[in-house]
Formats: sequence, structure tokens, C-alpha cells
Amino acid sequence: MLLLTMLLAVAVFVLLAFFRATVLSWMLAIMVIVPVVAIQARLSETILLVVYSLLILSVGLFGVPFLRRKLVSAVVLKLFRKILPVISATEQEAIDAGTVWWDGELFSGHPDWGKMLAYPKCGLSETEQAFLDTEVEELCTMLDDWDITHNLADLPADVWQYIKDKGFFGMIIPREYGGLAFSAQAHSAVIAKIASRCGTAAVTVMVPNSLGPAELLLHYGTEEQKEKYLHRLASGLEVPCFALTGPFAGSDAGAIPDYGVVCKGIFSGKKEVLGIRLNWEKRYITLAPKATLLGLAFKLYDPDGLLGTDVNRGITLALIPTKTKGVQIGRRHFPLNSAFLNGPTQGQDVFIPLEYIIGGVERIGQGWRMLMECLAAGRSISLPASSVGGMKMAARTSGAYCRVRRQFNTPIGMFEGVEEALARIGAHTYMTDAARGFTALALDMGEKPSVISAIIKYHSTERGRIVVNDAMDVHGGKGISLGPDNYLGRNYQQTPIGITVEGANILTRTLMIFGQGAIRSHPYVLKEVAATREADHEKALHLFDDALFGHIGFALSNTARSLVFGLTGGRGIPLPKGVVCRRYYQQMTRFSSAFALSADLAMAVLGGSLKRREKISARLGDVLSLLYLGSATMKRFADDGRPADDLPLVHWAMQDALYKIQQALAGVIQNFPNFFVRTMLSALIFPLGKRLVPPSDHLGHEVAALLMQPGEARDRLTAGIFLPSSEEDAVGALEAALLSTLECEPLQAQLHAARRAGKLTAMEELQRISEARDIGLITTEQALQLERDYALRRKVIMVDDFAPKELQVKKS
Ligand SMILES: Cc1cc2nc3c(=O)[nH]c(=O)nc-3n(C[C@H](O)[C@H](O)[C@H](O)COP(=O)(O)OP(=O)(O)OC[C@H]3O[C@@H](n4cnc5c(N)ncnc54)[C@H](O)[C@@H]3O)c2cc1C
Repeated sequence: MLLLTMLLAVAVFVLLAFFRATVLSWMLAIMVIVPVVAIQARLSETILLVVYSLLILSVGLFGVPFLRRKLVSAVVLKLFRKILPVISATEQEAIDAGTVWWDGELFSGHPDWGKMLAYPKCGLSETEQAFLDTEVEELCTMLDDWDITHNLADLPADVWQYIKDKGFFGMIIPREYGGLAFSAQAHSAVIAKIASRCGTAAVTVMVPNSLGPAELLLHYGTEEQKEKYLHRLASGLEVPCFALTGPFAGSDAGAIPDYGVVCKGIFSGKKEVLGIRLNWEKRYITLAPKATLLGLAFKLYDPDGLLGTDVNRGITLALIPTKTKGVQIGRRHFPLNSAFLNGPTQGQDVFIPLEYIIGGVERIGQGWRMLMECLAAGRSISLPASSVGGMKMAARTSGAYCRVRRQFNTPIGMFEGVEEALARIGAHTYMTDAARGFTALALDMGEKPSVISAIIKYHSTERGRIVVNDAMDVHGGKGISLGPDNYLGRNYQQTPIGITVEGANILTRTLMIFGQGAIRSHPYVLKEVAATREADHEKALHLFDDALFGHIGFALSNTARSLVFGLTGGRGIPLPKGVVCRRYYQQMTRFSSAFALSADLAMAVLGGSLKRREKISARLGDVLSLLYLGSATMKRFADDGRPADDLPLVHWAMQDALYKIQQALAGVIQNFPNFFVRTMLSALIFPLGKRLVPPSDHLGHEVAALLMQPGEARDRLTAGIFLPSSEEDAVGALEAALLSTLECEPLQAQLHAARRAGKLTAMEELQRISEARDIGLITTEQALQLERDYALRRKVIMVDDFAPKELQVKKS
């Protein structure tokens, strides 16, 4: 009887935790259950007295809010203030920047899938679509990547002019200033399409629309500054760049040594004005060599107190015309055979008036916050879009090439080894594109999702790298031999650029995603931290008490949910009506709970040292990221109308992501530096072991087949890239060759059989076609079709070659 009651008691407690019961419900349950168990246990009167006293004490302590605040929360608050890691001002500004969106749901342990599916569908306005179909199409037609990267080392003058004239530099600038005022979806679609044709042009268009002068002016500029520059930026009369990085401050950009000193000076031949004497040394600055307007980040000092009493005024941003006396600019770096403009800039004792400060004197010292706030938007669009443009082109061309190219008398895509690579190419492209669209949607909904921007930046560029590596492998020597007909090599060469810029990937994965997410996206941590900083003691106690007990309920709930879902594999978790692929949603909910539990334990046990435990933080970041990518995939599939043809891509991508989530959590547990926590987490999250497996070979075969077969699924997967119609173009020829190969296969089989039967004796393919026509095996039309097929296949298979002199560097 006692055992039964105790089991019942445990079940009640698990249920209370599972459903996040209030403190009052817990107290009531304890007040009923503890006496019942104590009486059934036939305890002596003295022990009963002790039990009842403890019961009354804990009910008083935890159940009466006034006492709880004074006696429990106040003590924990004191402890918190002591152990809370020191967060620098720059870190704090990074944490505060931007907003929380779907990442908050994933951190809740209980994502609301109905809410996600109810978000609007991704889409473009008529004007935006027309711009893609005409101006972007025209621009892509003008782009000759080989000529740009090999011969010119720059975009041709007519391309520069077209970009400026058609407003490509003003996609984020409102119409009142002459900009295109595009949605994030459209902005992303434009970059993706250009990137599918030419990385150099994509970067050139991307930078003025990303973190830089226009974005900063829009948010923080004074009215005069906006009037002065935004029209000119929108029409390309100004070419902007933004300089933060220097030789001695890369990832740790808050440590820039560049400085300005407030002083008086003569400006523009006028009389003495108050201004800043600047010294800087910056490098890697995109568009700098041709820039007319330099955005500059520096630390401002006011030793003579000309602006007030504060000597160290902090990171400040200014806009400096590059023709200003003393600005050194124009030299170039050479980023991995890309031809976009990138270079260093220096300035020694350059005097600028105070009105050059973005936002004026009021914005002095706010530079870091301004950059962090703008980073979330830019980082959510540019690199994800350019990665996806490259991935889609790699997916489309790899599928076609693997069907057209034959070895051992078989299309190479039919070999299982090649199929493996094609499966990764297809599924990673599908999932990354889903996340690109989902993130742009967040921006169009008015969000500035900082943690998500780090997730999408990292995963789109990493997956881009996997896809282009696989694409290179399946293309063999065709990918390696550079020249006008190589549509892949430059993409491969330039992949590390995306990995490094806008937050280098190792740092982004190990430090930013979880480090920022744990504080920002967690439902209680930021509230707790804010309470510790509240000066008014009573207010702090109230805030902290609410957050702390909310947090405890949250943690207990995730403990119960992890165990229950671990036992059921998430089966039975209720989902909105009409949802398909239900198991993926359920498994994501299961892992969301497990993630929230592990995150809480990691923060509670490791505290400030979690900052140094980058490998644990990275794995937790992987879980959060994969849950985000999985959500985006499910949303995309639903928004596309759940086409059955796309299912192989969806299944492969989801099974791969869920398996990797399992492995990442297992990695956290295995490496957790505390035996008790390791054992507990393992028992709670994987009570029946690690049961998920990676996608099967058969599923990989289906994805590979989808890539090699023209059809709606392949078109949807690669929608939005530039597909040249000319068969003179390498990609155009490949598209035509795929169709032709499939159409001619029955005729080829006929010729093959005739040859084996000794009816055809010619040694060369073209001669054999003529022979077959002459003996009446095929019609004249069929012979012409086969000749065209041969020409197309040859165009696809051949690579460029050069006279030795052509490859020598020309010194002018
Ligand atoms: C082509 C190109 C274009 C660029 N355009 C611009 C521009 O327009 N404007 C501008 O201001 N800057 C620009 N940058 C600079 C870019 O943002 C920096 O390169 C980047 O911030 C990394 O700095 P770094 O190259 O000095 O590498 P480092 O900071 O030296 O980093 C080297 C490695 O160490 C890792 N690392 C560093 N700290 C940590 C840590 N705490 N934990 C884990 N790993 C860590 C990094 O992830 C990286 O892998 C550009 C760079 C390139 C290459």
C-alpha cells in the first residue's frame, strides 16, 4: 500500500512538473501527499512532528510570497549577484541588441507549432517580382564571371553603371529617398539570383545594402545627414564602405585601436571649428578601393573636456568623404580570386568636423550598440542569400552533370558513391533555402532576430561549403579546370570568404549562438540578470522572485517532459490539425525540452566558466540551430502546399537534422564535467538509449534521382537562380544536355544494340550516327537529334585550355 501511494505521489509530482503547475498547486499537493505517506509509513509521533514542522516551514517559506521573497529569493539574489559572470559593456550591448523570435519558442521546451504555421507565407510583391524578372535577369545576362575574375579583376564599367542606375545599391533605402524599399524577401531573392551567376557582383550589390552607411543613416542619422546622403547612395552617386576591422582587431572588434581626439581645427579653409583628429589603420574593407564615402568606427577621447567631463567617450561612428585630406584609400587585397573590391585604408591626423559623426554628437559612444543592432538585419540576409544562390546552382548543375556524364557506360549519378554526395547536395540546399526564407520572413514581420541571424549566417555558409565540396567531387576535373566554361570553381574558391566575414564561423558557433541565445532567447535568464542590476532593492526582489520561481517551474517541467518524451520518443505530443510529417514535429518538441533542460543545467553548473567551455556551448548551439533549421523546413513544406515530390528532400533533411541533434546532445552529456549531471542527463534525455539513425541509403537514392530528373521538384529546389537560355553558355548547354540525354536515350540504346550486333562498324560516334542513318536504322531527323546531343554532351564534358602565354600575368 505504501509503495503504491509513493508511486502515485511520484506520478503526481511528474504531472505537476510536466504541466508547469503554479507554486500554489505544488504546495497543495505537498500538503496532501506528505501527511498521507507519513501516516501510511507508521512513523513514530516524534518523527511525525518533525515532518509536519518541516512541512509547515516549507509551505510558509515557499507558499507565502512575502516570506518567500524575504527569506529565499533575497538569499539567492545575493548569491546570483556574486556568481554572475562579469559581462563587459560590449558583450552587454551585443546581448541587448535585436529581438527574440522563433528562437524563443525553441528555448521554451514547448514550441507552438500552430503559431509557426500561421506565420504568413514568404512571397514577393508584383514590383519586386518584376525587378527580379527584368533588371536582375538583365544584370545576370551582362555578367561574365570568368572575364570579371580572371581578366578584369573588377566588374566592367557598364555593369557598375547598370547596378547604380537601376538602384541595386538602394534596396533598403525608402522610396522618399529614391530607394527601392524592398522587403527582406526581395532583397534576399535579388542577392541569391546574382550569386548564382557571379559572386563578385553579388558581394558588390550586397555590401551597400547590408551593415554600412545606408543602414546606419536610416536608423541613427540626423535629418540633414539623411537628406545629404541617402538620395546619393540610392542612385549610386556615392559608393559606400564600412571600416571596422583592423590588423589588431578582427573577431574582437570591440578592441579597435583606432582613435579620434576631440579638438579644434581648420576645416575646408573655414575658420576654426570643433572636430575630431582621427588616426586609423583598417583592412579587409569591402568596396574601399572605389568608395567615395567611408563609414569608420573608432574610439573617441576628449582629454580637454571640450564636449563635457567624460574623457573616454567610447566607440563612435563617422561618415567621411574619401576625398577628405589625409584619407588613404585605393589599394586592394586579393580575396581568393574574387574580383570584388576589398582593401585597406589608413588615416593619420585626419581632421573631421563633429557633424560627420553618424547621428551627431548625441550618438557619440553608441557605435557598438548601433553596429550590433544593424548586424542582425544585414547578417540575416546577405550571406544566407549568396550561399543559397551558390548552393542552388551547384545542386542544379551537379544533378544534370551526373546524369549527362557517363563512366563505365553508366551515368555517374547512378553510382552509389556519387548518390551519397548528391543526396547531401539536394537536402542541404532544400533546408538552407527554407531557413533563408524563414529568416527573411522574420525581418519582414518587423523582427531583428540577433540569435537567429548568427544561426543562419553560420549554417548557410557551412552547408554552402559542404554542398560546393560535394559538387566539386562529383564534377571531378571539370570543376577543377578553371576557364569560361567552369561554373563551379570560383564558387568553390570563394566559399571561405562567407565563412570568415560577419562573425567568423568558429567563433559564431562556439561563442555566439548559444552564448547569446542562453541569455537572450531563454524565457527567464535575461529577467533574472535584469533583476540583479535593479538598484531599487524591493523592486529587484519582486522581479527576481517572479523570474526565479518561473525558472524553477520551467526547469522542473523540462525535466519531466524530457523523461516522458524520452520514453515515448515524443509519440502522442498533440499537434495542430492537418499537420503532416507529424513525427518530425513531435521529435523536435522532444528535443526542445531536452535542450532547455541541458541548457539550464549547463548554466547552473558551469556558470561563468561556460564562456570558456566553447565545445559544450557549440554543441548546445548546434541543437538550437538544427531545431531552427528543422522548423524552417517544416514551414516551407507546408507553405509550398506539401508537394509529395519534395518528400525525399524533406525526409532526408529532417532525419539528418534530428540525428545530428541527438548526437550533439550526446556530445554535451559525454563531455559534461560533472559525473552526477552526466548520469542524470543521460537517464532523463535518453532513457531508452540513442535510437535515431541517419537517413537511409534508399532515401539518399531518391534525393539523387530527383536532382538528375527534370521536373517540378528539381525546379522548386533551385527556383530563383539565373538560368541562361543560350546553349553557348556552359550552364545553358548543361540544361539542354540533360533534356537531350534523356530524350535520346532510347535512340542511343538502339545504336548500342546495333553496334553489338555488328550492324554498325564506325569507330567514332558522329560517324556511327551517319552510318545508322544511311542503313535506315534511324531517320534523318533522329540523326540530327543525336548529332546535337553529341555536341551538347561534348560542350558539357570539355574543359577550357589556354596557350601558355594566356595564363601568364600581364604586367602593364
Ligand atoms: C573578404 C573580406 C571582406 C571583409 N569585409 C569587411 C568590411 O567590409 N568591413 C569590415 O570592417 N571588416 C570586413 N572584413 C573583416 C571580417 O569581418 C574579419 O575578417 C573577421 O571579423 C575575422 O577577423 P580576422 O580575419 O582578423 O580573424 P581572427 O579574429 O584573427 O580570427 C581567426 C580565427 O580565430 C577564431 N576566433 C577568434 N576569437 C575566437 C573565440 N573567442 N572563440 C573561438 N574562436 C575564435 C575565429 O573564428 C577565426 O576562425 C572582411 C574580411 C574579409 C576576409
